Amino acid sequence: MNLFEVMTHDDYEQVVFCQDKISGLKAIIAIHDTTLGPALGGCRMWPYNSEEEALNDALRLAKGMTYKNAAAGLNIGGAKTVIIGDPKKDKSEAMFRALGRYIESLNGRYITAEDVGTTVDDMNAIYMETNHVTGTSDAQGASGNPSPVTALGVYYAMKRTAKEAFGDDDLTGKTIAIQGAGNVATGLAKHLNDEGAHIIVTDINQDAIDRMVNDYGATAVLPDEIYDVEADIFAPCALGAILNDDTIPRLKVKAICGSSNNQLLDIGKHGQMLKDREIVYGPDFIVNAGGVINVADELKGYDRERALEKVKTIYDQMDKVFEIAKRDDITTAEAADRLAEERIHSMLNVRGNFLQNEKSSLKTV
Ligand code: NAD
Repeated sequence: MNLFEVMTHDDYEQVVFCQDKISGLKAIIAIHDTTLGPALGGCRMWPYNSEEEALNDALRLAKGMTYKNAAAGLNIGGAKTVIIGDPKKDKSEAMFRALGRYIESLNGRYITAEDVGTTVDDMNAIYMETNHVTGTSDAQGASGNPSPVTALGVYYAMKRTAKEAFGDDDLTGKTIAIQGAGNVATGLAKHLNDEGAHIIVTDINQDAIDRMVNDYGATAVLPDEIYDVEADIFAPCALGAILNDDTIPRLKVKAICGSSNNQLLDIGKHGQMLKDREIVYGPDFIVNAGGVINVADELKGYDRERALEKVKTIYDQMDKVFEIAKRDDITTAEAADRLAEERIHSMLNVRGNFLQNEKSSLKTV
């Protein structure tokens, strides 16, 4: 890969390669954009097959965080760390403390968090070396499990999606088909049940299904049947890439709104297929921003009430997405990207105004 070409093409600011021989740390920190503020993004540990695969993942995920954070209205940029290694056998305290030292050296440009393959204990080890870490144990004033907050955000987004599809955001009496019965899905089902919606659910784990049936009177279907059920809204809360050539023609819903990341296999093609079928699509990274909104609140000293208030604004961000989609006659997935890009671009201009607020601006050499 010609790294500088890739960085220039997609406007990456900085890529940091971190190595520590004794602990075996091999990590890449990709900082995509800090126009809006310090870059926040999780630390993923994965047994990548090659360094190139790890680098690609870091770059792709960092850019995704820029868009998610910007579109959520946060004053935060986007970044990601990947550690090359098997989280089941290659981890050590020293490895995460070594990474903490590298994060500290970035002086607050990058703030890390949990992701696939990393845990609260790993964040606690990083915290020994730097304050630029979120998701440490609750005793240290952290935000804890993000899933209930993500679920609340999905619920607000779903109400706004319903308004777009049915002219009214009331979910009473609506039927919602949920794919997955995990952490986010369970939290979402509670809100839906409280509002009087009917739930159809599927999962590959029978215990998870049973909980949804017992607690919320959900109707269970087999995993592959979820695309064919008669329902008002489809809520993907399990896997990515499930909106594709095979599934979209089968859907009988009027709207889609769920927590899974990267739901569209091909953003351009499958976003357009949904638009052509007049199925209202709630873009995933706007819908599932509750988790990052929650963790970002730690930067101000975590306040649960304030975080939950901010999560409500997902409804307003969805408003903007639908407005941009209509204004520019594009899909909602494209409109979500545009919302993020327009916000970053407008702030670049604001920050172009000279302010004599730093000693460095007075120095001459
Ligand atoms: P989870 O692991 O708790 O739940 C996922 C569920 O999906 C599991 O019960 C699993 O058995 C089920 N599943 C797996 N394959 C399936 C299949 N083929 N068909 C049906 N069900 C299947 O995960 P979660 O934390 O609830 O997250 C759900 C989705 O939302 C994930 O894609 C995740 O990346 C995304 N997300 C989660 C958060 C969060 O705060 N937890 C934030 C943003 C995005």
